[in-house]
Amino acid sequence: MERTLSLLTPSGRLTLGNLLGALRPMAAGQDATDGFYGIADLHAMTTPHDPGRLRALVLETATLMLAAGLDRSTLFVQSRVPAHAQLAYLLECTATTGELNRMIQFKEKGRDQPTTRAALFTYPALMAADILLYGPRRVPVGADQRQHVELTRDLALRFNRLYGPVFTVPEITVPAAGARVMRFDDPTRKMGKSDADAAGVVLLLDPPDVVRRKVARAVTDSDTGPDAVRADPAKPGVTNLLDVLAACGGSAEGLTTYGALKRCVTDAVVAQLAPLQERYAELAADPAHVSSVFAAGAERCREVTTPVLEAAQAAMGL
Ligand code: ATP
Ligand code: MG
Repeated sequence: MERTLSLLTPSGRLTLGNLLGALRPMAAGQDATDGFYGIADLHAMTTPHDPGRLRALVLETATLMLAAGLDRSTLFVQSRVPAHAQLAYLLECTATTGELNRMIQFKEKGRDQPTTRAALFTYPALMAADILLYGPRRVPVGADQRQHVELTRDLALRFNRLYGPVFTVPEITVPAAGARVMRFDDPTRKMGKSDADAAGVVLLLDPPDVVRRKVARAVTDSDTGPDAVRADPAKPGVTNLLDVLAACGGSAEGLTTYGALKRCVTDAVVAQLAPLQERYAELAADPAHVSSVFAAGAERCREVTTPVLEAAQAAMGL
């Protein structure tokens, strides 16, 4: 079975976007792939962070991954598989400052400030290690991650040329068109966990009344005609609500007002989240079980990654 790999950075609490765009498709694909799904805690430290919050986010994310039905995949926390950090250093010795300087995140989030953490500059090498350790043949990436995977390919090709054929060079593929959830308070911006505090971001653990309030305040538009409830590029707020409704199994059949649409969206989202939250509550009461699943996952990751790391070390003369 082909290996698939995906890492979630614990940069905030998981959102409805993460469920519809990542967790749900991962869970659905489990029988067709050998899935490795990780929590990228090391990537959550490239900007100032709070240790207690990071620890809590890792536990919540881990519990939510299990609650979302990822029970037949290899689940792990990145820092528990030391080969990630170890190979990252070897790849920092392969990458150049010129190419890391061109990375968009670094340019936008810190290049010109002397207090920027050095890890914000070097983390693309860690990301390359995250991928190359598992040797996936294909990596489906959206536009925002493309530059990272292109760098990963460049580093793998350069390493193989300089030191010998150690790495599988992954192909970049276009991900299956999935739901892309936008913020309810600003439908031009993606719903992301870094903005988990925003009024229009629905969290997976939001209780029904909070979901209702967030959906009720969703931005729509001033068009109140008889066919106002329709998907239309000129109506991004309404289109987003319709997309969320469809992704949560609801139907907009016969709806003519935004109020009615919002009630339907609320019901569909609440129904989508209810079983997840129920399962979460059970798992949260048994953190030892969650830890043991992730410990077993890390063990399997160590088995898979150690030979790759050792081959890279030997090729480089270590
Ligand atoms: P951040 O704000 O820290 O970037 P994020 O919510 O965008 O957080 P990522 O860690 O970047 O989450 O991505 C995790 C996974 O969730 C990826 O597979 C990504 O495609 C998916 N994802 C994130 N946000 C959305 C969204 N709004 N709609 C659909 N999928 C999403
Ligand atoms: Mg993101």
